[in-house]
Amino acid sequence: MHEASIVHELIALAGRSCPPGGLVMALDVRVGLLTGVSPDAMAFYFEALREDTLGSQAQLRVRLEPLRANCADCGNSCTMMELDWTCPFCGVTLLRFENGDELDLVSLEVDDGGADHDRAEDPEEEPGRGGGQPG
Ligand SMILES: [Zn+2]
Repeated sequence: MHEASIVHELIALAGRSCPPGGLVMALDVRVGLLTGVSPDAMAFYFEALREDTLGSQAQLRVRLEPLRANCADCGNSCTMMELDWTCPFCGVTLLRFENGDELDLVSLEVDDGGADHDRAEDPEEEPGRGGGQPG
């Protein structure tokens, strides 16, 4: 996994999700342990990439998703916060992971800049011109 392209995608997604005139304040991202993505590396690239797109006020909050595993040998299941291929119960390395490939933008914190609530709604309706001419 390349953190730079992941962060690029997240920033693009946040930019598209942000309402016009709003400022993205924070991105909450959930990352599974099996992605191999480093939160530190993400933070590094985020700081480098945010300036041109979201602005320097934007924060990246990465939450590591607990990894659920089942042991194929003893049948016990466990939840871990660090990737470990060894079963904590019997010590063999026959863990099967139930999750871990999450990489989601969970929520977006947006500052809409003082909340002008009386914005004019005028849908641009253009009557269709032309049409079927008897020929
Ligand atoms: Zn086991």
